Amino acid sequence: MVKICCIGAGYVGGPTMAVIALKCPKIEVVVVDIATPRITAWNSDHLPIYEPGLDEVVKECRGKNLFFSTDVEKHVSEADIVFVSVNTPTKTQGLGAGKAADLTYWESAARMIADVSKSDKIVVEKSTVPVKTAEAIERILTHNNKGINFTILSNPEFLAEGTAIKDLFNPDRVLIGGRETPHGQKAIESLRDVYAHWVPKDRIICTNLWSAELSKLAANAFLAQRISSVNAMSALCEATGADVSQVSHSIGTDSRIGPKFLSASVGFGGSCFQKDILNLVYICECNGLPEVANYWKQVVKVNDYQKSRFVNRVVSSMFNTVSTKKIAILGFAFKKDTGDTRETPAIDVCKGLLGDKAKLSIYDPQVTESQITKDLSMKKYDWDHPAHLQPPSPTSKKEVSFAFDAYEAVKDAHGVCILTEWDEFKNLDYQKVFDNMQKPAFIFDGRNVVDVKKLREIGFIVYSIGKPLDS
Ligand code: NAD
Repeated sequence: MVKICCIGAGYVGGPTMAVIALKCPKIEVVVVDIATPRITAWNSDHLPIYEPGLDEVVKECRGKNLFFSTDVEKHVSEADIVFVSVNTPTKTQGLGAGKAADLTYWESAARMIADVSKSDKIVVEKSTVPVKTAEAIERILTHNNKGINFTILSNPEFLAEGTAIKDLFNPDRVLIGGRETPHGQKAIESLRDVYAHWVPKDRIICTNLWSAELSKLAANAFLAQRISSVNAMSALCEATGADVSQVSHSIGTDSRIGPKFLSASVGFGGSCFQKDILNLVYICECNGLPEVANYWKQVVKVNDYQKSRFVNRVVSSMFNTVSTKKIAILGFAFKKDTGDTRETPAIDVCKGLLGDKAKLSIYDPQVTESQITKDLSMKKYDWDHPAHLQPPSPTSKKEVSFAFDAYEAVKDAHGVCILTEWDEFKNLDYQKVFDNMQKPAFIFDGRNVVDVKKLREIGFIVYSIGKPLDS
C-alpha cells in the first residue's frame, strides 16, 4: 500500500488530502501538523475550515485511509510520498521584506524530512514557492548524505477557497513538474498514477520543475491582474456614467477575453494573490527585470487604490464625515462560502472607517467575533514601505460591535457597506432594512449584489462599484 504523508493541515493540505483519500481507497493518507488545535479539530465534528462538501468527504474516509496526526516525524519517516503544504507568507523583515516569500516553514520541514527519513522518498512541493525553490530544497534534503534518494516534484495547487472540493474533484488541470532525469521521470509517473484515479490523463500536465513552480505564480498574477483591470475600469465607469457590469458583459463575450473573473469589487483578498504577486515582483527584481517588476506591482497598487477609493466614497457621500455614525458592515470574509479573512479587503475598509471615527456593527455568517477583533487589532504591514507599520485600529466595544444577523447589524445604522458577496445579502428584505435605518439611508455595495434600481425606489442612496451614481 502506497503511503502518503502531507505536512501542513491547512486550507490546502486538509482538503487535497481528503480528496486523494476518497478517490484512492488503497492509499493511506496521513495529514500532519505542528498545530495541535488544528489536528484536534480535523479529528472532531467541527473541522477547522469551512468548505462546502468538505465535511462529507472527511467523514467518508477518516479512520479508514485518512488520518490526522501531530506525530509529524513518525508519519514522514513511514511515507513513500511526502507532500509539503506549509504556509509561505510574505517576509516581514530582513532581506526582501514586504515582497519575498518567507520560506522558514518550508526549510524546517525539509530539514526534518532529511533527518527522519530512512528510505527513498518523493517530496512534493504543494505550497506555492518562488521559482527555483526546488534547487534549494534538494540541497537541504541531501545535506546529511545518508545515501537516501529524495526526488523533488512541484505540484502546485490551483483550488479556490469556497469551491475547493468542487475544484479538487474536477480540476481544470493537475500540474506536475520534475527533473528530466530517470528518477525525476519515475517520480512524475508515481504522482500521475495517484491523480489518474479520478483526473482524466489529458488534464495532467507534466513539465520541468521551474515551469511548474513559475506557472503557479503566473496563474495567480494573471487572475489578480484581471480583477485589477476590471476594478480600474470601474473607476472610469463612475467618472463617465458607463456601467461596469455592462462593460464586463460586452468585453467578456469576446471569446479571446472570456466572461470569468470580470466582476468589479472593493478589491481582491485572500492569502494568495497579493503575496504571490509581490513574490513575483521580488523575483523579477532579483533577476534584473525592474520594468517587469513594476508592471506586476501595479496590480497590487490598483487593488490598494480600490479599497481606499471605496472608503473615500463612503465618507464623502455621508457629508464628508462618518464620525460617530453607525455603519453596518455586511460580510468580512474575503469572499463568499469561506470563513477565511486573510488579506480580506474588509480589514482595510473597516480600518479606514474607524480612522474617521465611525462606529461599526459587523456581521458575517462564517467569521467569528474573535477573528475579526484579531484582524482589526493587527498592525498593517505596508508592503510598499516596509519600514512603516501603521498603528492598529481601536477595536473597543465602543467602536466595533458584532451582530447575530444582518438585520441586527443595520438597526439604527446611517450606512451599510456590503463587503462580501454572501447570497443572503442579495435576498435581504431591503424594505425592512430601510425602515430600521437612520435617514437618509446609504448603501455602499462593494460587491455589486444589490438591485440598485429597486433600492433607490425604496428610498436608499445607493453607491455600487462602477455603476452610474444617479441613474
Ligand atoms: P495554512 O496556513 O492554512 O496551513 C499551513 C499549515 O502548515 C499550518 O496549519 C501550519 O501549522 C502548518 N505547518 C507549518 N510548518 C509546519 C511544519 N514544519 N510541520 C508541520 N506543519 C507545519 O496555509 P494554506 O492556506 O493551506 O496554504 C499552504 C500553501 O498552499 C501556501 O504556500 C499557499 O500559498 C498555497 N496555496 C494556498 C491556497 C489557498 O487557497 N489557501 C491555494 C493554493 C495554494
